[in-house]
Amino acid sequence: MSLEAYELNDEEKLLLQKILAGEIAFRKIEEVSDPETAVKLRRLAIQEFAKLEFEHIQNFSLDVEAATKKNIENMIGAVQIPLGVAGLLKVNGEYADSEYYIPLATTEGALVASVNRGCSVITRSGGANVRIFEDEMTRAPVFKLESLDRTKKFYDWVKNPETFEQMKEVAEKTTRFGKLLGVQPFVAGTYVYLRFSYDTKDAMGMNMVTIATDAVLHLIADEFGAQPITLSGNMCTDKKPASISTILGRGKTVVAEVTIPAEIVKETLKCTPETMVEVNYSKNLLGSARAGALGFNAHAANIIAAVYLACGQDAAHVVEGSTAITSMELTKYEEVHCSVTLPALPVGTVGGGTTLGTQRDCLNLLGVAGAGDVPGTNARKFAEIVASAVLAGEISLIGAQAAGHLARAHAQLGRGKF
Ligand code: NAP
Repeated sequence: MSLEAYELNDEEKLLLQKILAGEIAFRKIEEVSDPETAVKLRRLAIQEFAKLEFEHIQNFSLDVEAATKKNIENMIGAVQIPLGVAGLLKVNGEYADSEYYIPLATTEGALVASVNRGCSVITRSGGANVRIFEDEMTRAPVFKLESLDRTKKFYDWVKNPETFEQMKEVAEKTTRFGKLLGVQPFVAGTYVYLRFSYDTKDAMGMNMVTIATDAVLHLIADEFGAQPITLSGNMCTDKKPASISTILGRGKTVVAEVTIPAEIVKETLKCTPETMVEVNYSKNLLGSARAGALGFNAHAANIIAAVYLACGQDAAHVVEGSTAITSMELTKYEEVHCSVTLPALPVGTVGGGTTLGTQRDCLNLLGVAGAGDVPGTNARKFAEIVASAVLAGEISLIGAQAAGHLARAHAQLGRGKF
């Protein structure tokens, strides 16, 4: 395409020519123009490179200046994801205690409808009870010591309460909100991993804990003379499925539950409490164990991904959210008691992608945008809503499988009705 067709002013044309000639690097365009122009010129350069004309990615309402400062490099536009709502979902939490429409950004047809059905079941059953059990974000630098003797001395030094007090003072100087809760050492040969855990209030906290832990590394170097190999030695464990996160927790550790009367199961899910329990046992528990899965659930990641995309969360943390455990049990009153346990749910309502306009709209819909009146309360409220939405998704999918495949299988096997 001829550059004339782009309707650029003389200065923009000159800049585009320099970009195409390699005289201005992509990452430096913002240094020679305003952010809006930089995004446009970079996009046009990509068009020229790929010999095509974009039809959609240039159309968006995001604040380019804010996004290019904090959220994205080499920006050329934005992708759009359809946004739907499921609800109303009644949540009986310590922080979220109301009925909510859940924003879900997804391209997977039927997901919103499925979660919507689960919300209806939960709300008709009195709502999801939900509680947060642990709340801490982690960072784990790794050190290599000169000998086993020094490794043990370092380990013991870290475990000394006085050392912790020193570390806490240094870490908390870097942030107005973060609180250092603990430092747990793990040893492998002469390597020592220190798992720092922090209360990060309304922030998901990865930047916050990285900055705070970095400051403590200087203290460790000065006081003990140990130098880290890297600030992140993977015992955190960030954005990878890991047993340590499912056992000790990472982000919020949340449990949501509901007890569903048999009539509601039959009317809404077209199955029975017994068939739901059987599907949950054979699929989510036994099947997941046989597969060596870290998540014992039907599709927790589906709901977490859709809410995270809508609400500006770090999408890679879906990995950790996907380690949920879903349980379903019969009560003596022929109801089905359903719960989801989310050991590692990193969420935030300040920082990261939460400040982008469309994502903020979704957080506003839930009444959790920005900092809580008491720091930390908005992120906790949000975590309770996410866990309740996951419960809705689990109930709906297990119900569908109990109504369809399992019922057919039982009919074929002639085992009668439950
Ligand atoms: P952030 O964007 O760095 O902002 C969080 C900051 O907001 C806090 O540090 C705090 O500043 C301030 N703040 C204001 N009100 C607050 C409140 N009520 N509660 C808590 N903080 C409040 O966000 P982050 O949550 O620390 O990090 C999230 C970002 O890190 C995401 O973009 C994510 O993708 C990225 N990330 C980074 C790493 C990494 O290794 N660095 C890894 C994974 C993801 P003060 O601390 O100054 O008081």
